[in-house]
Amino acid sequence: MSQHYAITMPQLSDTMTEGVVVTWEKQAGDRVERGDIVATVETDKAIMDVEVFKAGYLAGPLADVGATIAVGAALGYITDTAGDVAIAADEVVEEQAQTEMIPHHAGTPVVMPQLSDTMTEGIVVTWEKQPGDVIKRGDIVATVETDKAIMDVEVFQDGFLSGPIADVGSVIEVGHPMAFIVDDAAKANDTGVTISADHKVKDTHKVAPPAVDRPAHIPMPKAAPVQVSAEGTLPPVGRPSGRQASPYARKVAAQLGVNLTGLAGTGPAGVIVAADVARARPSMQEVAHSLPQVDVPGQGRKMTSMEKAVSHAMTASLTLPTFNVTMNIDTAALTAAAKAKKISVTVAIAKACSVAMAKFPRMNWAYQPVDKLVERDNHDFGVAVMSNDGGLVVPILHGIEKKPLEALQSDWTELVERARVRKLAPAEYSNPSFTISNMGMLGVSHFTAIPTPGIAAILAIAANGSQGTPFTITGDHRVLNGADVALYLATLKQTIEAPEGWIQGSGVRGQGTAAETVAGAAATTSVPVSPIPEGNWDFPVVVVGGGPGGEDCARDLADHGVRVMMINNEPFPGGECLWRGCIPSKAWRAAADVIRNRAHDADMGVDGTNTPKLNWEQVEKHRRWVQSSRGEMALKADKGMKIDVREGYGEFVDAHTLKITPVEGEPYTISFGAAVIATGAPAFVPPIPGARENLATGGVLTSDTIWNLASPPKKLGIVGGGVIGVEMAQIFRDFGTEVLMLERHERILAEIEEEIGKVLVASLEKEITVVTSADIKEASGKPGKMKLRYANKEGVESVFDCDVVLMATGKRPDTSRLGLDKAGVALDGAAIKVDARCQTSAPHIYAAGDVIGGYMLAHTAATQGRVAASNLLGHGGEYDQDRDCAVTFSRPQAGFVGLSVAQAKAKGIDAVEAKMPMSIDAKAMITGETEGMIKLVADKASGRIIGVHFLADHTDTLIGTGVTMVAGEMTLTQVARAIFPHPTQTELFGELARRLLNRLRRTANK
Ligand SMILES: Cc1cc2nc3c(=O)[nH]c(=O)nc-3n(C[C@H](O)[C@H](O)[C@H](O)COP(=O)(O)OP(=O)(O)OC[C@H]3O[C@@H](n4cnc5c(N)ncnc54)[C@H](O)[C@@H]3O)c2cc1C
Repeated sequence: MSQHYAITMPQLSDTMTEGVVVTWEKQAGDRVERGDIVATVETDKAIMDVEVFKAGYLAGPLADVGATIAVGAALGYITDTAGDVAIAADEVVEEQAQTEMIPHHAGTPVVMPQLSDTMTEGIVVTWEKQPGDVIKRGDIVATVETDKAIMDVEVFQDGFLSGPIADVGSVIEVGHPMAFIVDDAAKANDTGVTISADHKVKDTHKVAPPAVDRPAHIPMPKAAPVQVSAEGTLPPVGRPSGRQASPYARKVAAQLGVNLTGLAGTGPAGVIVAADVARARPSMQEVAHSLPQVDVPGQGRKMTSMEKAVSHAMTASLTLPTFNVTMNIDTAALTAAAKAKKISVTVAIAKACSVAMAKFPRMNWAYQPVDKLVERDNHDFGVAVMSNDGGLVVPILHGIEKKPLEALQSDWTELVERARVRKLAPAEYSNPSFTISNMGMLGVSHFTAIPTPGIAAILAIAANGSQGTPFTITGDHRVLNGADVALYLATLKQTIEAPEGWIQGSGVRGQGTAAETVAGAAATTSVPVSPIPEGNWDFPVVVVGGGPGGEDCARDLADHGVRVMMINNEPFPGGECLWRGCIPSKAWRAAADVIRNRAHDADMGVDGTNTPKLNWEQVEKHRRWVQSSRGEMALKADKGMKIDVREGYGEFVDAHTLKITPVEGEPYTISFGAAVIATGAPAFVPPIPGARENLATGGVLTSDTIWNLASPPKKLGIVGGGVIGVEMAQIFRDFGTEVLMLERHERILAEIEEEIGKVLVASLEKEITVVTSADIKEASGKPGKMKLRYANKEGVESVFDCDVVLMATGKRPDTSRLGLDKAGVALDGAAIKVDARCQTSAPHIYAAGDVIGGYMLAHTAATQGRVAASNLLGHGGEYDQDRDCAVTFSRPQAGFVGLSVAQAKAKGIDAVEAKMPMSIDAKAMITGETEGMIKLVADKASGRIIGVHFLADHTDTLIGTGVTMVAGEMTLTQVARAIFPHPTQTELFGELARRLLNRLRRTANK
């Protein structure tokens, strides 16, 4: 006898008493399978799919479309008899057909992400959001346990979380829904219709994984589980007899070593396609299950996903023909050296393994099926860590071969913390190139570890014994032989037992400053060898030039007991910076700031301060007081440090003789062992008709000669849109001057990061007239009545009548009178040619500051001066422009430290940036300083901050934090965790780091 089941209107919420039939998806008489959607109904919350879990045939009477059906009443029936299209009124309906309601068209599924190649399902660990909660792009809605770690599930669509929601603890197949996102809070389903732990979603509700371009989806894995690739050069296999196979399938078959005979084809008319070939290669799981299984008595519990993955990988590792080699190594020296450097022994051992591997690259290779070797030189070592739940997790320390120990330590500290709670991103545990397992701390006297497919060797470190610490390598014989491993272990032994040769150097990274190297030197007993030539010199070292470059160099040398003479053709040290550059211009800027700031007082509720009056005489008096005070302080300090400071002009007579022409008295010569040239770079005036000629009259000024103005000009023509031109333009604008700026290139501030530059230029153009692509024809007239004639981009000529013209057309070293050729010092263009250690072509002569070109900045000059000193002291050290910085004292101030994304990319660094406008910062809003932005640039691979870019008021103080981050090689995580005080603009650093970290984490699997 036939059996019939009722499909009833379910009650989906406490308030629901009835529902309306919207559509029938099956017709009476149709075959129905478990999981089929038979109808859609409208409830008081949303339109839902009615899914049945009973196989049979749909039978009427079916409720009419549009009919309102009471909760519990029948919508239709399922019968087990084919052809039975309607249940007669007198037939017995046995029971209800089990149904499930899934929101229909109401939401986008949040699916279980596939987070590694081996992952087939995951367990819901927590829900971070509840049904009805607002969801923003990037929100973490849940955490799931994969076969490797506990991962966040992030969504990329705004909306509201909606059920049915998979129960915590339920196992969901990859690509199947865990919940839904709806666009309207009213549609959110919180009815308690849940996907329970024992409800097999995968059996019933087939939801295809979301397409990659769908807005709401979980990051998909980088690598498809089945590799369908034919990148190799092997010729395609032959056609299988009597069968058809696509050319690509035959190529893939050659790569994967798959025999096409007997392979089922899923292409049109049974043609074998590439996917069929890829599928033919057994997966780890299939390999594991194809091995003989032994019956074990008892009631087994199911393995967790992680246990299963480990089990499959371990079984697959049986395909590796392995052998073991052990060597005892004395780790005492390495342990002590690591301790002195505050590096963990694990990290030091990993680095030692990498150092030794430089001679034995094979150790880092891998066998690839079929009959291929992957030769890789990236040392990405998996290092086993005990997780808090007692299992082993193997996070990967990336790029060991190229990173200094300090950087590795900071990577490791972060990784271990997350590995312990199994919170690792797939990239952090997938594809190690070598693995280290240290069980010494557990007291094991000897053990071997099992390499998994993908590596050729695994190192097992046991506890220290009377013979030393046993280091056992288990190798894959297809890649390595016993001698390879024995020789490698012997080298590793040497590396570990004599670490001083590499452990200090690995921290310097070739860019260490003098101070860094000095610190390094202090940790060892080696005495640095100074390259200052020995001899009966008047002075072991002479420094030519007393600006920031020369003065810092002389001070460092004197501080280390070297007898130094510093010759400077000005009465006081300080150079351009103090007398014609940084200091006087910032004194003017400070006065201009007061005027500019007062204009906005009324916005904050202070009236009556917006008519400030410039007292030029006092401005100049204050400026000169700062300069002279600092000049005197500097000279006093230099003399106090026993630097022999002399006034005069120095020029080389030969490689060890300098002629000095003092201001008064006869020229004289001195002999020297080594020299440092830091003579700066004066303002450069291009050959524009009248420009050079009018320098003498004072009608045309430069940054060298602008410091004697009787009053600010009423009208100022500026030629050149670089940093100096822009600073001067805004200063004089604030002093009430009308300014015209002419720039011959298309863009002003070309040296500033593009976006920052654009925003600053837009702001500047509101205050002054800027003409780019200008053809400057002539500067003529006399002071107070100058004419600046130019043509614009279209060739239209104009004349700007002004009091004076400022040529802000750059700076260029002038070494014409230095006698460099006599000393064997070569030039590179106008600048002195040096290497990163500031050494010139004459090995005993160094050069620093503006005279070597590059960034012409005071702190750059000072740094290079110290690098030169450090090298002369034998401490080594290099100038690294990639960590240098600058501030443009515009309003708002522009600034940078390190690299922009474009600069980083040009260097092959995979860089990412995050930016935040000042307008969202609380403090900036309070003070009305909301213009601009801060950008953080990080190296994607290491998470290290490599650049910070600013356009903001107070950049001059904010930038210090950026400098510390870049110089200290801080990571996004470190900055994200730092506690910045509120309300200050520094909070943005933490925000930026967190934002970028989140973005990187979100995109890690895409
Ligand atoms: C308007 C302006 C604003 C600036 N603002 C900033 C700023 O805000 N921040 C910043 O970092 N930089 C700024 N700079 C740049 C900064 O001034 C220079 O980069 C810095 O001074 C360079 O230092 P230096 O030691 O290489 O050369 P200098 O400071 O030029 O010093 C060279 C010294 O050597 C002397 N000398 C030259 N030849 C001889 C010789 N043959 N014998 C003896 N002595 C000699 C010179 O007289 C001078 O004293 C600014 C520059 C200008 C023009």
